Amino acid sequence: MSVSAAREELYQRLPTLVQGFVTWISGIPAKAQQNRLAMTPLHVIGIGVASIAMGFIFINSAMQIGGSTGIAMYILGFCCVAGGTRRLDVLIIHQTLHSKVLPSPLQNKILGEFLTTILLRTPYVENQKEHLGHHRTPCDEDDVDVIFLRQAGVAIARRKEVLYLRIFMIALSPVFHLRFFYNRLVANFITARPLYRLAMSWVYGAALFAPAAVYGTSYLTALVFYWLIPLSVGFQISNFLYTATKHRWWLFGNESVRGKEKRDLLSYARVCCSKAPEDNSITSWAGWWLKALLMHVPARLFVVVGDTVQHDLHHVAPNCDWPNSAYERVQYNSRTPERFSEVWGGMLAHLKECNLESSIHVQDRSPLSA
Ligand SMILES: [Zn+2]
Ligand SMILES: [Zn+2]
Repeated sequence: MSVSAAREELYQRLPTLVQGFVTWISGIPAKAQQNRLAMTPLHVIGIGVASIAMGFIFINSAMQIGGSTGIAMYILGFCCVAGGTRRLDVLIIHQTLHSKVLPSPLQNKILGEFLTTILLRTPYVENQKEHLGHHRTPCDEDDVDVIFLRQAGVAIARRKEVLYLRIFMIALSPVFHLRFFYNRLVANFITARPLYRLAMSWVYGAALFAPAAVYGTSYLTALVFYWLIPLSVGFQISNFLYTATKHRWWLFGNESVRGKEKRDLLSYARVCCSKAPEDNSITSWAGWWLKALLMHVPARLFVVVGDTVQHDLHHVAPNCDWPNSAYERVQYNSRTPERFSEVWGGMLAHLKECNLESSIHVQDRSPLSA
């Protein structure tokens, strides 16, 4: 099968009406599809802000409804706020580090400092230094993501059941969340540099809590449920699942890999979609749709957001038109197909791809399935 054969098969076997949806969840357009919704960085910012705003509306309803319906509504709002903050982090802050959101480096830095302050992320200067190091030698011992995963307890697993259980336990571990949040607080309120960035954090912190002097505990309760819980627990779960599936971290034993042939093997496209079933029976397709709606859509909304599906493209061509990466990748892939690979099957397949012993070998270039 060539790289996009799985997508072509879905194109042939599913109605035209749903092809836009399949392209969105998979991040892989079919050959016949054109990019009819060209995006700009401002659109991406708008989607992130809209996701947060929608989350606030759901949380507001949850507070009024109460009961089990209210809890379900709160979880939905929590996911939307967390997903929106992740979009602003992993799409916008990340691209400001590459100066690819606004026209000038200074404008990108200002936006990056502002957003890293609001979202309690590593300040721009240090963040950029760490991230450009990741691009030079991804997955080596000094890669902050490798250090993060090791500290969280992620390691190569021999059995997929052990891997899934480990990931599940870490994602819900109070120790993981407290340590992560503590590190974010320290990075923003104690060690942040330059000093103007430290001052920004303190002004932001004061602005967040100052209304409590007037509105008392009702304001603090709202602050916790609308903002602090999604920004800590939700953001961190999303960040963890995102990072655990981002690269084939352990492929070369965390050595510094030089040369694009080896380095390209560390990245792949995280396709949040299942391949077409073998047969056309109703039960086979019902299973495909259930996975699409219950696993792949949530993954695309809250974890593998925007162009993070095409992370192989980001490493091959960080200067590409990133908001339109799905279509950009088709162009680059047609020129140098040996530099790209796809893993279909969604998050469980991606967890196995990155962290299961049997998957960690030099990959051939055929697409891999769940
Ligand atoms: Zn990057
Ligand atoms: Zn990367």
